Amino acid sequence: MKLSFRIGYHRYATDQAFAAHLAFVKANLDCIDEVALFVEFSHHGYWPLEMIRDSSTLLRQRLADYRALGIRSAGLNVLCTIGHLEESWDVLAQPPVPCMVGKDGRRSHSCLCPATTAFREYICEKYRLLATSQPDFIWVDDDFRITHHGLAGPCFCPECLKQFNQQNHRTFTRESLLAALDQEPDTAAAWQTFQRSLYTALAQDLRQAVHAVDPAIEMGLMTCIASSRNQEWFSALGAVRGRPGGGFYQDTVPLEAMQKGLATAAQLSNYPDQVRDRQYEHEDFPYQQLGKSTCMAMLEDCVSLVWGCNGIAFNSMYRQDNPRLLAGIRHNQAAWRELTRLNAGMENDGIWCNDRDVAFRLQEIGLPITFQRETAAAAVITGNPTLTRDEWRRMLSRAAFIDAPTLSGLQQLGLAELCGATVEKCWPNGTLEAFTDHPLNGPYAGWRRDVFVSFRPQFCSDAYTLKMAAGAQSLCELQNVLQQPLGSAMTACSNALGGRVVVSGYFFPHFLLYSEKRQQLLNVFDWLTQSRLPRLDLDHKIMPILRRCGSDLLLFLLNASFDASGEFEVQLRQSVTSLEQILPDGTRAALPFRQTDSGSIVHCPSLPPWQYCLLSNIPAGA
Ligand SMILES: [Zn+2]
Repeated sequence: MKLSFRIGYHRYATDQAFAAHLAFVKANLDCIDEVALFVEFSHHGYWPLEMIRDSSTLLRQRLADYRALGIRSAGLNVLCTIGHLEESWDVLAQPPVPCMVGKDGRRSHSCLCPATTAFREYICEKYRLLATSQPDFIWVDDDFRITHHGLAGPCFCPECLKQFNQQNHRTFTRESLLAALDQEPDTAAAWQTFQRSLYTALAQDLRQAVHAVDPAIEMGLMTCIASSRNQEWFSALGAVRGRPGGGFYQDTVPLEAMQKGLATAAQLSNYPDQVRDRQYEHEDFPYQQLGKSTCMAMLEDCVSLVWGCNGIAFNSMYRQDNPRLLAGIRHNQAAWRELTRLNAGMENDGIWCNDRDVAFRLQEIGLPITFQRETAAAAVITGNPTLTRDEWRRMLSRAAFIDAPTLSGLQQLGLAELCGATVEKCWPNGTLEAFTDHPLNGPYAGWRRDVFVSFRPQFCSDAYTLKMAAGAQSLCELQNVLQQPLGSAMTACSNALGGRVVVSGYFFPHFLLYSEKRQQLLNVFDWLTQSRLPRLDLDHKIMPILRRCGSDLLLFLLNASFDASGEFEVQLRQSVTSLEQILPDGTRAALPFRQTDSGSIVHCPSLPPWQYCLLSNIPAGA
């Protein structure tokens, strides 16, 4: 596990500032494995090469000073390759190379077009100069992305249009291309391919520029969800480092720590194997010391390591040091190192969802999530995504939970007979669902859920009744608000492929926190997965992350509530011979458990608000 710190330009730019910063580093050497110096101090894309040349000389000295102090790894974070957005353009140097042009024809002041020869020559020289400072690594920041560059992204400048037209034998203007992107899927796909290729070629250039100076310099790519999907960028850059990022800048909404955890896991699942150094982005931008409580900072860091990061890149020390953060790290780092050791070789186990927000809602009611579709215990498919017929059949031959729009799509593909139902009718308002007396509803037959669909149109669309096929069973009935029956709203069936399928016509994943609905869904997913996943029946919001490798188990449980959880039990669904809680100092506390026919049941201590426990059956030192 690597603790890496991104250091702001102003901490090393003058000898006086650097001396003060270095004293802080020296006092915290036990918690600092690596430093990455920001080359620039604004998100403006263009930095004159004379400045970079001078910086390189200074950076070389600074990196050597860190190493002399005992820091094992010291390198650079190039903040600006393209430029992130419009920033400081009246103050900083005007780019002498062409800038991006937005959809509306406006030219960016700060973000550089990736397609021109002038830009390529400039950016390669910038990276070459930086490589001469003898860094152990160079991070390419997440402005290495196609979209989200302020007023532009992707670029619609004349050069980009010319290259796209040449490659595709077209004659688009900006206006005609924009119209075609809306109306012609083939053109939209070709435009995406063109954009991706531009960045692939750019990544190759950057790698060559750096490795021509020193092939031992490690390259790293910082990603967002979209850019993490372009595996060829990692290859072209020769990246052995990746940093999944995005969000949780302050803890105003604590659950965003868990949402960022899911975004991190999604990005990790896209990283190619060559990316062996996976540093979580601990993001405190714009560096407000009171923006995040230490408790939440420690939670988000632990979550990222459970999901499979093996390092943390702290973006917390831009203009000032952060002693409070370092104290938190010192208190927790032994557990983090033990966690990372245990986690090597483990995979997520849980439910796969095609929609990350749905995944988050299911994690909120206590279901573990995975981003590995092929090994998932069940798939949750909503919104009728485009999949091949073979992919659909494979999912329906195992365990699937689908919503009504998805069922409609499957009907058109002729696959409805595998789902046990067809969509009967759409009901846009005035509906609720009532539980039937099906055994999966436990003691809650007759219980009703009304999410008041008209109140939050962003979370609620229509409700649907389902027509059941022979052999299917009904778990819910759709009723109108007069409590008159309209038809089935939730069905379960076993199909001819041996799969189990549940269809929900009144899904509304943002409103699953009713105790009875949660219990029903836990029962439903137990049935779908044939009781493969751990089960926690406590009527409290505890969010799990499950890692497994054979019978080795790592289970993270967060009390995502401002109330203490009280003591609770977890059915592990596997037999263990010991189960221990890993404490912050890395030591263990044995937890009592008992054996049953369906595996071991462990007794957990009460979790205070927003605290977590980390359980494993792997012996210490094993
Ligand atoms: Zn362009």
